[in-house]
Amino acid sequence: MSDIRVRFAPSPTGHLHIGSARTALFNWLFARSQGGKFILRIEDTDRERSTDQYIDGILEGMRWMGLDWDEGPFRQTERIDLHKKHIEDLIKAGDAYYCYCSPEELDAHRKQAMKDGKPMRYNRKCRELSNLAEPAEPVEGVAPVVRFAMPLAGHIVIDDMIKGKVTFNNEELDDLIIARSDGTPTYNLVVVADDVDMGITHVIRGEDHLNNTPKQAHIYKAIASEPPRFAHQSLILGPDKGKMSKRHGATSVLDYRDQGYLPSALVNYLIRLGWSHGDQEVFTTEELIKYFSMENVGTSPSIYDKDKLQWLNAEHIKMTPPEVMLRHLTPYLASEGTVDEGWAPDAEWFASALATLVERAKDLNELASSMRYYILETVEFDQKAKAKFLKPETKELFEEAVKELEGIEDFTAANIEESFKGICERREIGLGKLAQPVRVALTGGTASPGIFDVIEIVGRERVLLRLNKAIEACGSSE
Ligand code: GLU
Repeated sequence: MSDIRVRFAPSPTGHLHIGSARTALFNWLFARSQGGKFILRIEDTDRERSTDQYIDGILEGMRWMGLDWDEGPFRQTERIDLHKKHIEDLIKAGDAYYCYCSPEELDAHRKQAMKDGKPMRYNRKCRELSNLAEPAEPVEGVAPVVRFAMPLAGHIVIDDMIKGKVTFNNEELDDLIIARSDGTPTYNLVVVADDVDMGITHVIRGEDHLNNTPKQAHIYKAIASEPPRFAHQSLILGPDKGKMSKRHGATSVLDYRDQGYLPSALVNYLIRLGWSHGDQEVFTTEELIKYFSMENVGTSPSIYDKDKLQWLNAEHIKMTPPEVMLRHLTPYLASEGTVDEGWAPDAEWFASALATLVERAKDLNELASSMRYYILETVEFDQKAKAKFLKPETKELFEEAVKELEGIEDFTAANIEESFKGICERREIGLGKLAQPVRVALTGGTASPGIFDVIEIVGRERVLLRLNKAIEACGSSE
């Protein structure tokens, strides 16, 4: 155990974007690898754009990825009294002040600044009036905003764990509004207040927040004594170096689930966008927890590469233990109506069925559809395959196969192979002449894993049932 406390703080104004999921993952891994705590905080202060549906989607995406949290989910809107208390304290301490400037006044000032080619910052009129000791004289009929009093000179250095030391001139920082005229706190205040109250020690987030950091760091200093450590990750870009968007591929984590990705493959992919461990590419989540460290997070932009993600998915499909695969595959099988949600096949049978399919499956949708013929009672014939392989002259061959298969004592792939070879020798035909029609009879199509494995896994009873149906489908030569 350590005293490390990190948080993932999504705004529920959209689905869980893979960029945010990567931020969540870096925080989670940092906590898990250091024995720290991972806190989930929903930043829902933008009430118009935040919805419960988006919150549910974010939680679902995180659960699917295996990013479990130790505390929360906290909702920022439920903590507003705490935020207001911080604002009052800041005013009392002289670190914030009421501003009565009207929107018209501010607008005129902005326009003038633009004309003069000066930065469009607040001119600090009310700050000077209040002199930081007393609030400015209330102006009748005007509901004031509250502004944070930024230091007027000097600079601040953010010692970023990923980017190194980044220096900002205080002069360039605006006296930002921390409470609107209706009293509601604003983003930069709320983030800091919650981080302080939740004892956050490290803030790991996307570099799109880097410009907020010096302002927030001053607010941290005013509220608490020291800001947390910061780590700003480079963003995920599309192959054209533009911001990752739907043009480049799915952006929602749950879309990746629906497309048949294993969560461990997406986790592996996202962590390698920015972090490395020697030249290893494929990691189990346990290995990531063991090896992860902030020192090996790079600064270069991360380019989305769908081929690599697909390759990792295929690798993870091959290496995931059957009992874990069962859990992930069942929803795909259930959504096609092949099994119900509580499906509990014999573990040994499932493992051997899976073993025949994993080498060729690119994703879980494909795997589920291949698995169908191992599970269902009967199969539908592909019409082309039927026309080519289920012909009147095949009937006799099937009848002989039925007889042979009925007679095998121990129904194993090896024994089945031996008996099929016997049939072919007697008839002086190549094995393919028997195997291919049998494949169509048992799987409905012409591509499948090795036919003897298929026969063993489908099991004698259903094999005989399907061969007899195929005999019917062969029709007669008259
Ligand atoms: N709510 C912010 C976002 O979704 C995150 C703020 C932070 O991490 O400090 O971008």
